[in-house]
Amino acid sequence: MTAALRATGIEKTYGQGTTAVHACAGIDLQVDAGELLVIRGRSGSGKTTLLNCLGGLDRPDAGQVWIGEHELTAMREADRVELRQRHLGFVFQGFGLLPMLTAAENVEVPLRIVGTPADLRDARVAELLDLVGLSGHRDQRPGELSGGQQQRVGIARALANEPQLLIADEPTGQLDAHTAASVMDLLRSLTTQRGVAVLVTTHDPLLAGRADRVLQLHDGALAGTP
Ligand code: ADP
Ligand code: MG
Repeated sequence: MTAALRATGIEKTYGQGTTAVHACAGIDLQVDAGELLVIRGRSGSGKTTLLNCLGGLDRPDAGQVWIGEHELTAMREADRVELRQRHLGFVFQGFGLLPMLTAAENVEVPLRIVGTPADLRDARVAELLDLVGLSGHRDQRPGELSGGQQQRVGIARALANEPQLLIADEPTGQLDAHTAASVMDLLRSLTTQRGVAVLVTTHDPLLAGRADRVLQLHDGALAGTP
């Protein structure tokens, strides 16, 4: 079976000479369909840099990334953008919702981007809001929703185009412990019920309990089984 994500020898350095920071210092990683992989690491350990390289938001200095069969690092920028739009979902610590749009409109954005017809968009948005337990909140704007609800909208939006891989960078970082646990439960259910591969970073030790596998990132290097 092809892995949802495979990466080998990922390196990324910021700066030069004595001030250089090796944010990724040779990382090998694989995430399979239906797997919830958690990467733990302190602030500054390289989590965001790694996820940005894996998700094609940034280019590593060295190494290769495959999303399913597609080798991301070899692609032209336009092809990478299209691959991100169609095959990847991103979830952010700060939710990243558009404040002037309702919950439903936020979820609809990725569907509009890929040109999904209006009737199909409506049905899909309703299904996604139902999936994350927010059917009753479709017309509320982010400012009218709790942090946990906003992150559920963020997850629904990330799933809009049925990605095989969800990448979530500290998705619970702004949530209280109880709400964080329920968001992790939601991510967990996506892997078991929909076969989505989910890669999550956190520095919260409690959240790792829901993972299939936990890797520890220290100064740009991983410990554990890649
Ligand atoms: P984390 O997400 O785990 O907090 P980051 O990937 O943000 O870690 O950062 C890893 C290291 O790289 C840190 O030392 C950080 O200061 C440095 N770094 C991150 N982004 C940049 C940048 N754009 N320019 C220079 N240094 C950076
Ligand atoms: Mg970070």
